[in-house]
Amino acid sequence: MQHRTSRARARHRRAHWKTSAPALTPCTNPLCGKATAPHRVCQHCGFYRGRAVLSPVDGDT
Ligand SMILES: [Zn+2]
Repeated sequence: MQHRTSRARARHRRAHWKTSAPALTPCTNPLCGKATAPHRVCQHCGFYRGRAVLSPVDGDT
């Protein structure tokens, strides 16, 4: 049989969540080196694993 969860217990359980700082890793582009999300294309220079994938400002290609 399951027991009724008290308000205190339920609230205590729900209190255990927190926002965490975003994981950031330095850009793989040596010319950029800005902090970017790991395993993502760099939002500053468009590099991923040493290769240009995106054009950050060039929009008409
Ligand atoms: Zn970059």
